[in-house]
Amino acid sequence: LTRAPRGVALVMVGDELLDGRVRDTNSAWLIERITVLRGCVDSLRVVPDDVAGIAAAILHGSAESAAVVVAGGLGPTSDDLSREGLARAAQEELVLDLELLAALHERWRRRGRTMPESNRRQAYRTVSGKPIPNPRGTAPGLLHLLDGVPVVLLPGVPAELHAMWEATAEGIVAPLVAGNAPRRLRLRTARLPESALADAVDAALGQGGAIERGYLVNEFGVDLLLLAGDEQADLDAAGATLLARLAPHVYAVGDAGLERVVVEELLRRRQTLSVAESCTAGLLGGCLTRVPGSSAAFRGGVIAYHDAVKVEALGVPEDLLRSFGAVSEEAARAMATGVRDRLRTDWGLAVTGIAGPAGATAEKPVGMTWVALAGPGATQAERSAFPGDRTQNRTWSVAAALDLLRRALAIQPRLP
Ligand code: ATP
Ligand code: MG
Repeated sequence: LTRAPRGVALVMVGDELLDGRVRDTNSAWLIERITVLRGCVDSLRVVPDDVAGIAAAILHGSAESAAVVVAGGLGPTSDDLSREGLARAAQEELVLDLELLAALHERWRRRGRTMPESNRRQAYRTVSGKPIPNPRGTAPGLLHLLDGVPVVLLPGVPAELHAMWEATAEGIVAPLVAGNAPRRLRLRTARLPESALADAVDAALGQGGAIERGYLVNEFGVDLLLLAGDEQADLDAAGATLLARLAPHVYAVGDAGLERVVVEELLRRRQTLSVAESCTAGLLGGCLTRVPGSSAAFRGGVIAYHDAVKVEALGVPEDLLRSFGAVSEEAARAMATGVRDRLRTDWGLAVTGIAGPAGATAEKPVGMTWVALAGPGATQAERSAFPGDRTQNRTWSVAAALDLLRRALAIQPRLP
């Protein structure tokens, strides 16, 4: 699938972005803003404070995209070279803008100071360029049309960049790119490896075709992104086919996270939940309470890390732990029913596992986790064998617990 040049080319300028001093957060912020407009970002180039490099990035960007946004390198010092880079790309001179110079002087005067000589640099613009006001700082931005493609220069300081994007730059870029992103549909899945998901998708939709697929592994599973490459592509039909085929694995269509899906269903049913956590030691409760409004459904939980807490706070029989061990189906079930009874909730959800690196035995390897759910019906339990390190195994244990509850709640995701 080849995309027409209809998006934004981003150019981030600064040595500090390439030597580890500063993490480039400006591009992530801009990408999010452009995505919200349903525009797309065609490219992201990160270049040092160097005239030739900046000029080349601007030229490539303007040849490939509908608009170019450059961030950084507008400061008053000799290493701020974005204006020079643009002038080189446009083959124009930089000229002193007297109005801009007067405005800069005025800005300093209002702060009770005289403008340092070095700030004069900021009053230069390309001959045909237009200054963009900066409400938050001294560095004005610059708009220049390069063969009809707008090139927008913005400062690198995040607060200034944000303010100028909102006040001016978005208004220049949005009409050219908004709505040009391909239509998309996001199916969020749990408990399926990426490769198994891809095989199932290929089997359902056939290989190739007008629907482009993207896979993104994230915290609790794999997201499938369907992109309609052209107008004819029937995204809704493909979505419906996949939803039917993958039903037990799809927890959401759209952006909702697994914890939100579960909490919202509990709220809808006016039911309550409590948790008993061993290896995750609070991660599950923490995750559920990320959801605003969760307090109406989530009562609380017990971090039963030590066996004595499983016995004393949850009423798990001591001899059960002696016979089967703390990481066992029996222990998980007893923890789930224990917390449900003691906290008097509709559902009790329990996790116990071996996160690693220590604690494994021949029968119980690192990554073995039991989750159990006690509810209005029969208590259920499920075993997983996670292949990760301690951190990953704990995260996946949270996912396994949430997903057990999700399936018990029989949540049916729907197409928008
Ligand atoms: P100023 O007028 O403040 O000098 P400027 O356009 O010259 O603005 P830079 O000198 O390139 O901006 O960067 C100023 C500061 O902004 C840097 O010290 C850095 O902390 C931050 N910054 C620059 N680029 C980025 C980026 N891509 N992501 C996050 N922060 C950035
Ligand atoms: Mg700089």
